[in-house]
Parts: sequence; structure tokens; C-alpha cells
Amino acid sequence: MESEIRRLEQLARRLEPNARSRTSLLKKIAAYAEDFLEQLPESPAFIEQPGDGRSLYDSPIGEYGLEVEDALEILRGSVDTVGINPASPRMLGYVPGGGLFHSALGDFLAAITNRYSGHFFASPGAVRMENMLIRWIADIAGYPQTAAGNLTSGGSLANLNAIVVARDNYRIEAQNIEKSVVYLTEHTHHSVDKSLHVAGVSKCIIRRVSVDHRFRMDEQALEELIIVDKAAGLNPWLVIASAGTTNAGAVDPLKEIGEIARNNGLWFHIDGAYGAFFALCDEGQAILKGMDQSDSIIMDPHKALFLPYGTGAVILRNGQQLYASYNWKADYAQDVPDDLEEWSPSELSPELTRHFRGLRLWLPLKMVGVASFRAALSEKILLARYFHHKLKEMDGFEVGPEPDLSIASYRAIPDRGDIDDYNRRLVEELRADGRVLISSTRLGGNYVLRLAVVSFRTHLDEIEETIEILRSTAARLRGR
Ligand SMILES: *Cc1c(COP(=O)(O)O)cnc(C)c1O
Repeated sequence: MESEIRRLEQLARRLEPNARSRTSLLKKIAAYAEDFLEQLPESPAFIEQPGDGRSLYDSPIGEYGLEVEDALEILRGSVDTVGINPASPRMLGYVPGGGLFHSALGDFLAAITNRYSGHFFASPGAVRMENMLIRWIADIAGYPQTAAGNLTSGGSLANLNAIVVARDNYRIEAQNIEKSVVYLTEHTHHSVDKSLHVAGVSKCIIRRVSVDHRFRMDEQALEELIIVDKAAGLNPWLVIASAGTTNAGAVDPLKEIGEIARNNGLWFHIDGAYGAFFALCDEGQAILKGMDQSDSIIMDPHKALFLPYGTGAVILRNGQQLYASYNWKADYAQDVPDDLEEWSPSELSPELTRHFRGLRLWLPLKMVGVASFRAALSEKILLARYFHHKLKEMDGFEVGPEPDLSIASYRAIPDRGDIDDYNRRLVEELRADGRVLISSTRLGGNYVLRLAVVSFRTHLDEIEETIEILRSTAARLRGR
């Protein structure tokens, strides 16, 4: 048996490279990352590659390992040069991604040290760090000291976590579900509908409150619906506002909705996945007034704080409610003390073991400082306004409303023929070109183009370049 154990040990030990190979591996990985970053200014925002990375399957998972060079070659060829490049400064479609370098370093260290961030007893430091970040985010929302929250994997899960707490508090259960009413708009993100479904409350009556000409919830319409529903013996319980819709970048009238929710005894949830962090800058603060009126709010650090994908945040005004919905006990953890100084992520969310998400947020905030984040967010808002004004003046284009935050809508107008069709062809043409990524949506029944400025790498030069590419491509299509 001993020799068998030794034989196994020899093979198992390959899981731990020695100091010399670690140094060499780090050098090669760093060179790959450096090469990627150095090429970013020129690399396309979108690459349509024949095969769509199917070559990955040519190298199946096997019994014995590859050299790092070979693994990186597969990564380069089958993953990092196919499809959308969210790291590109000219990624301006959907909601652009970020990928702060300091966060990558934080992730690296979090993976190496592998602190157990799920529970205070296991890693008081990691939990304190996350709670400190949650407090910092709660301050952005203007929440009182009673607030608590959780760093999630993203906005969808953050919405789900908040909606479950709202459901528990209003006791929405089998016997009252079909009489209970939820209010949102047609621009509410579909992850909210999914969350209602997963939380088991999608059988509620879902009212799509009408929006004004700037695609913001019409608060009067909301109030009237609630009054009519109450008179009809229904149970209005939840209103969900958007602090920046993904579709149009519109901010619902948060203060007014908050007042209506309070007066009528509804839970007020804000989906600020895309927009709420803009409150860090003055321009954003001006339009986001009223976030402090809500019972729960979500914001995505992997959007407007430019983190790599995988970090959302949910905050409850009354943290006790979050704890009430998610704390559970297990026999095998009976020697973990109760009554610890701070709540733990595992008591405030459905997750137990999880990524130590705090470090990827803490490191950039600490090393770079908040001032640069504020500046970058102001800059994004001003870039969207600049784009809006430039396109408004340009022949052959028509613009939507002045952007509330950093998403602008517009469309190209042909000399003759179908407008939607012309814009559809324009998007296809831009995608084939690949230098900038522009996506479309439907607003007010029309096919329109969106410009979403959310990447920390997008600056004035990229916006000027985009305007020029739009102008020349639209002109070329017009000639056909
Ligand atoms: C992106 C987004 C979501 C979903 O967040 P994920 O992090 O993609 O899960 C929810 N709401 C809004 C308004 C968003 O922009």
C-alpha cells in the first residue's frame, strides 16, 4: 500500500508547481496579458470568426497536461479573438464591460490565498472587508446605518435576492398571490421578470406602468393604478423602479415613486444595476435623487465601477430583513460561534461557499482612489451628451431624448425607403467592420441604435472615431 500511495503522491504533486515553475508560469501569463492589453487600442470590438471557436473541441480534456504556451495558444485562438471584446474601448453596445487591472490582481490574490469569505468565523478579515464595501455602497444609496447587503455574482442574482426578501416581508404566499400586484414598466430589465419567476411570485398581477416621452415611469399613472387596484380589493405590494434602464438609460422618478410607495404601503425596490453608481459624480447625483427612499437597491460593480464580470451588489435598507430571509443553521457547523461581531455573507444570501468578491473591488478602490472613479463616471455622462449633440447636428441622423446617464438613442435616416431596414443594415455593416460595436433596440415602436458609454477605456477619441464610422458607413449604405 505504501508504494501505491507514493506512486499516487508523485502524480498528485503535479498539482503544485514548484517555485521555479511558478515564476516561469507567471512570466508567461503576464506576457499574454500584456500583449492583450497592448493590442487593445487597435483590436476590433467584434470579430466574427469562421467556426466560432469550435477549434476548442479539437483539444479535449485529457489525462496529462499541456505546456502553458499550448494552453495559451488555444485560449488566444478559440476564446480571446472570437465574438465581442468587452475589454475594447470601442465596445459601445449592450452594456459594455470593464476589467480593471487592479481587480485582476485582487482576483489573483483571492484565488491564491483562498480566504473563506462566506463566514466571519472562518475569515473575519475577508468578511469585514466585504461589509465595509457594502457600507460604502449603502452610503452611495443614502441608506441609514441599519442597512446590510451582499456582493453577488451580478445584477440578476442581486434582484432575485431582494425580491425574495420583499416577498417574505409581505407574506406573498399561495393564498394571496393571485390578488397581489407588482408594478414596473415595459423597460424594466428582464432579469426582474426572471427573479419574480424564480422567487415564485410571477403569478402575481404584473402591471406595466406607462412611461413618459423620455421612457421614465409615469408616477401619476402608477398612483392611479394602485388606487384602482386597492378599490378592487387587490393587494398592491411591490413597485420596481429603474435607476437607469438598459434599453434607454432612463432614470425613473425615484423620489416621487418612493413617496407613492410609502403612502400606499408598498415595498420599493430599485434596479440600479447599470446606473446607480453614477451617483458618485455630480451629474449622476442630480438625476438619481430619491434612491434613499427605497427598501432595497441593486448596483453592479461589473458595470459602472468597471470591474471584471462577476460582481453585483444588493443592499437592504433594513439589514435585519435580509438576515431573516437567509440565515440558516447546520449541524456540521455547530461549533461555529453565534453572536459574532458582524453578519456574514452566508447569512445574508443563498450562497454558502463563494468567491471572495470583495478583494477585486477593494484593491482598485484603495489603490486608485475614488476620485478617478468619479471622474470616469462624469466623463461617461459627458461623452454620451457630446455624442447626442454631435449626432443631432449631423445630416442623416435623428436622436432620441437627451441622455439621463450614459446611454444615447438615435437612428440613421435614409433618403428614401424603410427607416428600420436601413438601420438594421447599418448595424450589420458595423458588425462586419468590427472596429466599433453598436447594438440596437426598440423604442416607441421604432428600431433604434444605442450608444452605451460604460467602459473606463472609452474616451473622447473613441467617441469621435465612432461618429466618423457611423457617418461614413451610413453614407455608403445610402449610395446603394
Ligand atoms: C445588466 C442589468 C441587469 C442584470 O445584471 P447582470 O449583472 O447582467 O446579471 C439588471 N438590470 C439592469 C438595469 C441591467 O442593466
